Amino acid sequence: MNTVRTLPIRVVPVDGEAIESWLEAIAHRTHTAFGDLLTAVGLSPYNGMGTTAWIVCLNPDEVATISTATGIKPDVLETMTLQHYSGRAVRIKPDARMLSRAFPWGRGRGSRFCPACLETTGGRWQLRWRLGWTFACTIHNCLLADACPHCGAVQRRRTHIGDIIPQPGRCSHPAPDATGRSPTRCGADLTTAAVAVFDSDHPVIHAQRVVNTVLDRDTVTFGVYQTVPQPGLNVLADIRAVAGRALAYATPQDLETVIPQDLLGVYRATAEPSDSRSGPARTDTKPGGTGTGRDCRGRSGSRCERLGSPRRGVRRGYAALAGDLLTGARIGRPRNEHRVG
Ligand SMILES: [Zn+2]
Ligand SMILES: [Zn+2]
Repeated sequence: MNTVRTLPIRVVPVDGEAIESWLEAIAHRTHTAFGDLLTAVGLSPYNGMGTTAWIVCLNPDEVATISTATGIKPDVLETMTLQHYSGRAVRIKPDARMLSRAFPWGRGRGSRFCPACLETTGGRWQLRWRLGWTFACTIHNCLLADACPHCGAVQRRRTHIGDIIPQPGRCSHPAPDATGRSPTRCGADLTTAAVAVFDSDHPVIHAQRVVNTVLDRDTVTFGVYQTVPQPGLNVLADIRAVAGRALAYATPQDLETVIPQDLLGVYRATAEPSDSRSGPARTDTKPGGTGTGRDCRGRSGSRCERLGSPRRGVRRGYAALAGDLLTGARIGRPRNEHRVG
């Protein structure tokens, strides 16, 4: 039943924003603990905290109460959950509001992020950053960051804790050495995370633009799909299959001949074993596998060595890079760039 009241202050979602980012922004703006804000918009903090159900999909009652409380139209709210990408970039289990892990590269754990986007928007998170297929920012031409530059925690694996006021753009994970029921937060400025930056016409940025086009369309009609258009889901499956083949049959030396050296350097730096630290879970490498490299951009000093460093999924990360490049090479790639295969 819709029993919520209209909030006194309205915050408009930014284009492409994830719903939890927007709700956190409202809580911050109204100086409200996040759990209280959830209650105010009709999301139960007891059912909602610690889960990702309403990040995946809102049920009709939730859509109604959030819309009433915030003044944002239901059709806009429905573009702010992963349901928006259902059947295109993720597959949602019926009646469970959970994502199928069988979907190819459907979603990594948590959310990657573009530090520059966080800085320019005041700490607002794009829904697209949650997708396993999003590895770069095509606005700032950089790979996305995988984790907090200070504590190494993958961001947004769960909803924000309920008993504090969110601080947009800051790491809300417990501080590495914090203890107790309400441990001190890390609080690191995520806009300072170092990421590799490329030219706008670099193959990896071009590959992300192509993938974005696939994600945004129901049917793909370009490149090799001109003659027989295919659903985006089939195209993503093709990309993954091609990447798998490339890895199965190519040696590292073979891949070196087709992957740009700067990108290869980033990958190698990321894939190297790190000095092991206890603490929050670190990231697996999926498409992107980012964080370190020669082109690191760290606006508060060198933090390159503290990012990424996946200890698992190295080959999957290589597959991602190969797949990205194959995508860029095979579909609408500029003619003067190196061609794969
Ligand atoms: Zn960006
Ligand atoms: Zn942190």
